[in-house]
Amino acid sequence: MIPLAEMLLDWYARHGRHDLPWRQTRDSYRLWLAEIMLQQTQVDSVKPYYGRFLEVLPNWQALAEAPLDQVLALWSGLGYYARARNAQRAAQEVVTRHAGHFPDTLDAAITLPGVGRSTAAAVLASAFGQKHAILDANARRVLIRSHAIDADPRATATQHRLWSLASALTPHDAHSYNQAIQDLGAMICTPRQPRCRACPLAGLCMARAQGRSHDLPVARVKAAKPERCVCFLLARDADGRVLLEKRPETGIWGGLWCLPEAAPGGGEHPVLCPDAAYPLQDTSVLRQSLRAVWARRLALHLELTMLEEEQRHAFTHFQLRFRCVHARVLGGAVADSAVPLRWHDPAEALAQGLPTPMRRILERMVKAADSSRVTRLIPRRRVRVI
Ligand code: SF4
Repeated sequence: MIPLAEMLLDWYARHGRHDLPWRQTRDSYRLWLAEIMLQQTQVDSVKPYYGRFLEVLPNWQALAEAPLDQVLALWSGLGYYARARNAQRAAQEVVTRHAGHFPDTLDAAITLPGVGRSTAAAVLASAFGQKHAILDANARRVLIRSHAIDADPRATATQHRLWSLASALTPHDAHSYNQAIQDLGAMICTPRQPRCRACPLAGLCMARAQGRSHDLPVARVKAAKPERCVCFLLARDADGRVLLEKRPETGIWGGLWCLPEAAPGGGEHPVLCPDAAYPLQDTSVLRQSLRAVWARRLALHLELTMLEEEQRHAFTHFQLRFRCVHARVLGGAVADSAVPLRWHDPAEALAQGLPTPMRRILERMVKAADSSRVTRLIPRRRVRVI
């Protein structure tokens, strides 16, 4: 066996995270679900979601047949909701095209929605004992540092080189090796503070020998994220219910329930409009625009009562700036709309699939005894009467 693999396996046997819930199984559904949830998400964040998800949807069939609303509700708060929609589509394909079994070849597995080469390899190695290399973020970082690769990690040529390297290093016991390199990257060879003194690869690591452990992988020059600005309407009816709209199934927060949106420029369809120049700070312009947009979209007679201070929410490819506008419903009825609009009891709405910013707003409402208390819960500096 190649020394690096041997050292990693020896370290993993003694220090690996063997107690992770998805390390207790060789079931392809459970392994695949963990891999999907762990994409771009930390282990500690995934753990509670993983357990809850499996309690409700314990196998391919259950996930394939579940209402999308239920899947999104179980995923709510974990972010990157395209993963949830793809997960259900993948489960449906496993059931309909593969007789309820995860495909047992790499070529077939990567045709499933949301399943890339590394995810497929990890599942095949652990579920079926096949010898496939992975190249997730942790494995990539360990390989780049241990071999002092200073090319752009995202360049196609570097990707090819890394996959070749990963394949050459992966031993017959790919199941343990893949978990070992993931754990080393998560626990020792971490992005910002590699703990080289505790590393089993310290003796052969080229980055360490060159004093470049902290400099690799080479940093990308990050372009500033574009901004999108939007206002969300927090309208409550006489019974204290809050108006939510279900977003279209594709796009940002697809299929999730959300406070009605008013995009700058007055667009009727909820698109989280990419218009950075909209004057979120100018309340007189804002008031006129919001009244016009919501009167047209919702056919409700609204009295706008409060404008919360601007908040931000980071997406991978843009920064969302938003303000939450409180309103009393004075009359009218919710208009027919291409998107479903529903009045929800705030506490019951928390059981729906909600994006994290919406969940925080509703949780704050639920904690409040009544609408006046909602006002007090918002720090005075964040509220402006309009
Ligand atoms: S010696 Fe340091 S840089 Fe090299 S693999 Fe180990 S932790 Fe990473």
